[in-house]
Amino acid sequence: MIAEYKILRKHGWQFIPDVFAVTLPESYQQGRPIITELAVANEILQKAIENCPTGALSGQADALQIDLGACVFCGECQRICGSDKIKFTNDYQIATNAREGLVVRQGQHPPIRLQPDKIRKEIRSYFGGSLKLRQISAAGDNSAEWELNACSNPNFDMGRFGIEFLASPRHCDGIVITGPISQNMAEATQICYDAVPNPKIVVLAGTDAISGGIFAGSPALDRSFLDKYPIDLYVPGNPPHPLAFICGILDLMRSRKK
Ligand code: SF4
Repeated sequence: MIAEYKILRKHGWQFIPDVFAVTLPESYQQGRPIITELAVANEILQKAIENCPTGALSGQADALQIDLGACVFCGECQRICGSDKIKFTNDYQIATNAREGLVVRQGQHPPIRLQPDKIRKEIRSYFGGSLKLRQISAAGDNSAEWELNACSNPNFDMGRFGIEFLASPRHCDGIVITGPISQNMAEATQICYDAVPNPKIVVLAGTDAISGGIFAGSPALDRSFLDKYPIDLYVPGNPPHPLAFICGILDLMRSRKK
C-alpha cells in the first residue's frame, strides 16, 4: 500500500486545473492563425493560394483570409509566405457556434469565441450542469476520434465537468460528428440523431465534418443532414485538439467565470 502511495505522490496531479489557461508549446502550430499586414510579393501570395489543398486561403494581397472550417492546418501557406506574414499560433481556443466566426482575416486578430446570442436558450437551461454525447464517426479517418477519446483521459478529464461520451444515443443530449459524412454514413447519422431525445445539440468536430475537408465536393459524400438542423458548435482542427473541444463545449454549456 505504501508503495502505491509513493507512486501516486510521484505522479502528482495529472489533470489540467484550468482548461482555459493552458499555454501549449510554441511548436504546436495548429491553433488560431494570424495574418499580418506585411507586404508580400503578389506571386508569392498567389502561389500560397494555389497550393492550399482545400481553398481555405483566399483573397487579395490586402485582404487575405483563412477559413478554419476548411483549413487542414498543413502549414503550407505559412511555409510559402513566411511566418512574418501567416503564423499559426498555439492558441487552441478556436471553437465557435457561428460558421462565419471561423474566418480569420488579415490584420484582425480577435480571439475566436462563441456568440452568446446564437446559443439556443434550452441548451444552458437543460445542459448547464452535465452533457452526455454520442460520437458519430461519419467516414472519419480516426484522427479526430482519437482526440475526442483523449478528452476523457486523466489529463484532459472532461468527465469532471459532467461531459461524457455514451454508447446509446437514447441516453444522450446530442451528437458529435467527425468525418465528412459519406453516403454510406448519411442514413446512420440520421438514425442516430433521431434516437436522441429533444432538445438535442449537434457538434461538428474537425475540418472534415465542418466542410468536408479535402473530400469536399466528392460524389461519395452526402452532407444533406447538415442542411436540416442547426449546428450548435464548430470545433475546427485536423484533428481538433482536446482542449479546443472541451473549451468549446464548456462555453456552450455555461458562461465563463469572471
Ligand atoms: S494551413 Fe490551411 S490555409 Fe494554409 S495552406 Fe494549409 S489548408 Fe490552406
